Amino acid sequence: MTGDAIRIEGLRKTYAGGKQALKGVDLTVPTGSIFGLLGPNGAGKSTLINILAGLVVKSAGKVTIWGWDQDRNPRQSRAAIGIMPQELNLDPFFTPRQALEVQAGLYGVPKRLRRSDEILGMVGLSDKAEAYARTLSGGMRRRLLLGKALVHAPHILVLDEPTAGVDIELRQMLWANVRKLNRERGMTIILTTHYLEEAEEMCDEIAIIDQGAVVARDSTRNLLGQLDAKTMVIQPESPPDILPQAPGISAERREGGLIALSYHASQTAAEEVLELVRGAGIRIRDVRTEQADLEDVFLELTRSTPAA
Ligand code: ADP
Ligand code: MG
Repeated sequence: MTGDAIRIEGLRKTYAGGKQALKGVDLTVPTGSIFGLLGPNGAGKSTLINILAGLVVKSAGKVTIWGWDQDRNPRQSRAAIGIMPQELNLDPFFTPRQALEVQAGLYGVPKRLRRSDEILGMVGLSDKAEAYARTLSGGMRRRLLLGKALVHAPHILVLDEPTAGVDIELRQMLWANVRKLNRERGMTIILTTHYLEEAEEMCDEIAIIDQGAVVARDSTRNLLGQLDAKTMVIQPESPPDILPQAPGISAERREGGLIALSYHASQTAAEEVLELVRGAGIRIRDVRTEQADLEDVFLELTRSTPAA
């Protein structure tokens, strides 16, 4: 499929009880991308993902998955997508192999097309194939959930906070798997995470969602470029009595006698900042710069605006 793997238009969800979890979301996810859905707790990420999965019924809007309208072609749209949910909801009475077989059955995958052993190998559970689910560690359960999401060889893989609270080893294994599926099978990946570094490193495209609305949607590179705020941190030979001042540059003291000068790279050259410092008679012992990262973009965009 060329174009968009997922197209969401005017998506709304109001839960029984009146909570408006999604307030009119428009979003497209390009085929073949690794797409990050970021947002603070309660933003509506899981609600959106569970609507895609067919686990939560939307209140309004249109969802198209792999070209299939979710309402008109529920079977086809469901078959196109595999979901690794946030909750570790596994049937304790199934072994990993049984869990995969049952899941494949649910999706109508014929026996000859099942790849349970291959999937168990991929998620590193071959030696646990016959273990009782209740004897599996949290990390193993998570890997089994990834395996379950893959039984019907979906075009799109959705992972809801896959690395929240998991150790570094498992996180790296998960990401290696995800990258491989994306690269080798062209699988479109959608993930939610609140590890911003992870999104920065993994995702081609990012949407930031806050209080049920998309507040930013761009390539990771553009999103990071959006904030061209830079800070030059200077260690002076001796602390000056007064801080240097110039339009477009704001100076403040930091611990240890350091001076932080903030400016916008698009408006002020680093050389101008250095000149300002030298011009104020400050001798520079050491200097380094700090650049905005996704965390800054995120904070900027999700900073709650006080109620009017
Ligand atoms: P996120 O995954 O971004 O943390 P969620 O989609 O889980 O956010 O939740 C969005 C909002 O909807 C939150 O305020 C949450 O409390 C509420 N919510 C989620 N699930 C339900 C539910 N089943 N019933 C009522 N409210 C819910
Ligand atoms: Mg969630």
